[in-house]
Amino acid sequence: MPELPEVETIRRGLEKRSAGHAIVDIQGRDGRLFRHNPDGLATVRTHLSGRTILGIERRGKFMWIRFADSPQALVVHLGMSGQVRAETAEHHAVPRNKHEHLRLILDDDTALSFVDPRTFGHLTLSAVSQDGQREIPAALSHIAPDLLETAWSLTDTITRARASGRRVKTILLDQGIVSGVGNIYADEGLYRARTHGFFRGRDLGDERWALLLSSCAAAMAEAVEVGGTSFDSLYVDVEGNPGYFGRTLAVYGRAGEPCVQCLRPIERAVLDGRSHFYCRTCQLVGADGDQSV
Ligand code: ZN
Repeated sequence: MPELPEVETIRRGLEKRSAGHAIVDIQGRDGRLFRHNPDGLATVRTHLSGRTILGIERRGKFMWIRFADSPQALVVHLGMSGQVRAETAEHHAVPRNKHEHLRLILDDDTALSFVDPRTFGHLTLSAVSQDGQREIPAALSHIAPDLLETAWSLTDTITRARASGRRVKTILLDQGIVSGVGNIYADEGLYRARTHGFFRGRDLGDERWALLLSSCAAAMAEAVEVGGTSFDSLYVDVEGNPGYFGRTLAVYGRAGEPCVQCLRPIERAVLDGRSHFYCRTCQLVGADGDQSV
């Protein structure tokens, strides 16, 4: 599933290709991706025809397209397998494949193509409203600020995390506590902070939580610089290029391979239904240096 760095990479590419351009044609097929709008694709088509794209914003794993003279934004959630591609004019004549749900033709002949084979994602028109320092679509009002956002508060996040009896990794994946972190960057952040995901939220002190959150943020910021992690063939940027952070992953997906610090094989466990990759030697530090689980 695309996490913050992958979505940010797509956001940047999409903004570069679309900001300032008007939508001159809308093609698509109604279906699951438009399930959150009353009349599905028809609502999107009615609202977006002729609109000029102002820019693309993001919170966590969600992005949304803003339009001139409209409070409505088009929320784009990539789910498990969503792609956004920007194609040149020659692509217009290519029939949509069965996984292409929406194609926006811009006034410079760019075609923005929204593809999602598994349809766990969605495309949703939603009105923005003020939420603290930012305008956020109503459909995303339950999503907490992400670690790379200026609105993010370390104190608030630690307070909520320490109040939880759930496992640390599960807390990191809770988009209502801190958004953008998924399986890859939770495991990488935990490794960098020398802490495994089995501790309970209340087991870690403020300093350990601060280190863990900054470690997740650092891993994601580094990943953004190289276009994210291509965890499978479905993740590419809007120009069709993969990301290269996979080459520098320390633990995620590396079960059985040697730890880069101690050479002990990386282990994979299942934690609350999700894989957790970690090094048993390097990641045993919890509250106050406690090495028990
Ligand atoms: Zn190790």
